[in-house]
Amino acid sequence: MNYEGVIEQSTMGLKELMDSREEIIGYIYPHVPLELFMAHGLTPSLIRALPGTASGFEESLQTFACSYIRNLYSQRANGHFLTLAGLVFPGNTCDALQNLGDIWRIRFPDDRVFRLTYPVTRYSQDESTTKFLTEELKHLSETISKTLNRPFLSESYNHAVELVQDFRNSAQFLYSARVVNPKIISYAEVVGLVRTFLTSTTTSSVSSVKEAAETVRNKANEVGLSDSIESVRQAIKSGDYSGVKLPEGLETPRIVIAGGMVEPQAMATLISDMPDVHESVIVLDLLSFGFKTVFTESPSTSDDPYLAMAQSVLTAPGDPTHEGLSYRMDAMKGILSNLSIQGLIVCEQSFCDPDQFEAPSIEKAASELGIKTVRVPLDPELSDRGRVETRIQTFLETLE
Ligand code: SF4
Repeated sequence: MNYEGVIEQSTMGLKELMDSREEIIGYIYPHVPLELFMAHGLTPSLIRALPGTASGFEESLQTFACSYIRNLYSQRANGHFLTLAGLVFPGNTCDALQNLGDIWRIRFPDDRVFRLTYPVTRYSQDESTTKFLTEELKHLSETISKTLNRPFLSESYNHAVELVQDFRNSAQFLYSARVVNPKIISYAEVVGLVRTFLTSTTTSSVSSVKEAAETVRNKANEVGLSDSIESVRQAIKSGDYSGVKLPEGLETPRIVIAGGMVEPQAMATLISDMPDVHESVIVLDLLSFGFKTVFTESPSTSDDPYLAMAQSVLTAPGDPTHEGLSYRMDAMKGILSNLSIQGLIVCEQSFCDPDQFEAPSIEKAASELGIKTVRVPLDPELSDRGRVETRIQTFLETLE
């Protein structure tokens, strides 16, 4: 299936929800409290850049706007945006998203725009970071209640926590299973399931992920890989790789894809379409819409749901938009050096300052481990597809 077809398929569930008059709240930045939206009776939907979006509407945006937000703005300006109950923009992440949120309010005054401001740092030793985000979440919750007349319901919150936890358990298992045996389930299938969940966070999309995890679990049990998969999962969650047990004779090369707000599906499609390359070379991604969403911890059963959600959001593996470069590089080095990785594809969203700032550090960290890297600039249109494919193919040949 081509890239457009994959996207179309993942949005089918969302269209059905809209037809049945469910209220959808859109968000753009991946690290949001899904449970909060669901506690207000809303279905969260990650709004993302789409290939084939006619451009030419971006004159309002600043010159530093990345290709990702240009695409989002164009979708809205040319009337291809879904009817949403509201749209949540992040504050304190990157200039491009800040600019998009500001312009959106002015250009589309009928849209209900909410803002969730994140703390500057995620790694401070005191509790100020969590406290700040807890207050922000309370504020967002009150604003949603007032604006949309949808109160926060504890019962809905508890159900949402369980649902998102089910998704994470299953998706973490699938990600870890592919580290142990990348042929046990295709990368395209895993990221397709994650995409469907993020596009419409519903019981049905979670059931699909759980079913896939169950099938893989049965296969892993038959061939004796379950312990190994669990050891990888625990190691990624804790950052302690001393208990990792990978099987002997792993097929090579084993590649990791690093980057921020780059579509995992785009990378899956690019690599699957290459002649003489099996997509099982991709062992893991570290992307915002994949790994970083999947390996966020769920809220605890604290008496204060806002505190629990703030703590949960702050456990997301760091993104280029956050402070804490050295922390992120150490975490990445732990993965690369302990999961038998030979190559790293460093994706950069075109004109994304955070990605471009981070990429040299990623290359340096990988080279310290003797791991080869290639930098790949991408935009939502995959407009430079031919050149990108050649670059990746040449890179894979050097690994062999
Ligand atoms: S791709 Fe980069 S610049 Fe664009 S919104 Fe994401 S972090 Fe910001």
